[in-house]
Amino acid sequence: MIEPGSTIGIVGGGQLGRMLAMAAAELGYRCHIFDPHAGSPAAEVAAFWTRAAFDDEDALRRFGGSVDVATYEFENLPVEPLRALGDKLRPGTQSLAIAQDRAAEKQFIEQQARVAPWRRVSTLSEAQAAVEELGVPLVLKTRRFGYDGKGQVWIRSADALADAWQAIGEKPAIAEAGVDFIAEFSVIVARWQDERHAFWDSPENEHQGGILRRSTVPCSDLIAAQVPEARQAALKIAEALGHIGVLTVEFFASADGPIVNEIAPRVHNSGHWTIEGAVTSQFEQHIRAICGLPPGLTGLMRGGAVMENLIGAEVDRWPELLAERGTHVHIYGKGEARPGRKMGHVTRVKR
Ligand code: AMP
Repeated sequence: MIEPGSTIGIVGGGQLGRMLAMAAAELGYRCHIFDPHAGSPAAEVAAFWTRAAFDDEDALRRFGGSVDVATYEFENLPVEPLRALGDKLRPGTQSLAIAQDRAAEKQFIEQQARVAPWRRVSTLSEAQAAVEELGVPLVLKTRRFGYDGKGQVWIRSADALADAWQAIGEKPAIAEAGVDFIAEFSVIVARWQDERHAFWDSPENEHQGGILRRSTVPCSDLIAAQVPEARQAALKIAEALGHIGVLTVEFFASADGPIVNEIAPRVHNSGHWTIEGAVTSQFEQHIRAICGLPPGLTGLMRGGAVMENLIGAEVDRWPELLAERGTHVHIYGKGEARPGRKMGHVTRVKR
């Protein structure tokens, strides 16, 4: 067990690291952030900060020597250098390696659960073959460095293919059949080294332009009916990865049941509502899991919650949001409110 008073290393300094560090502080831990950028949201609330590139193995080794356990808060990290952290790293590099390559991810997940029909594509002619085999609509997604809808282009007719292939930069990609989903939801699970695990209520997620707009718990009855199967799938995935900590699996609720869209080997935007809406937040639970502390209860605090992201200039609405009684406002402290950038979120707990 890593006891309170110890130091937790977090690779990545974004808002997820910030909220992890705040939860860790509540339990009496200190956090050490590893991030190359000045003014990172997490470093601002943590005791220590190493400013170094994510592939700087020497810096990672020194960082590893200064912490009692380490974790990561986003998946676009080079995997090899992280091996310098050895078994202090929880979850391990396996979860990261699978989650950061969409082809490896699909191939891995389809052994545990249902995914949309997909093909690997590395050339325009492979993309053509995928359109012929899978039909349209179809989405091309770059294998790496995609998030919040980035690196994705929809193909709605075969003659749009060449432009789409160019639009994703002619990079190694996957072609995925469009899923005619009824709704989207996620399963967030925390898993301990000794295989204990805990789920939260599954949020119903609404996206706009590939970015999460809103998460609502409880979800609709239609989703609720698919949650047991989705939880089984998520747990199978977590077990197959040997995952320690929080893992998020995003699903499409289709007429034929849950279909996995993608996994995130970490706390997730669709779980932000747990800070005020659940007995134990995803952030605290992740800290508990990686430190080997007992699991916290995950039930709803009240009747449920709605979390909405503040994207780009929406964060400027903070005065009116703060004036709303009972609304919890979170501002990540990022400098520039660029379009599409997640600047904060608000949670309204149902009474
Ligand atoms: P992703 O980055 O893969 O999570 O995609 C972002 C969003 O795009 C998803 O949450 C969906 O709303 C939509 N999307 C991605 N892939 C598909 C698909 N195969 N079929 C339908 N919608 C999709």
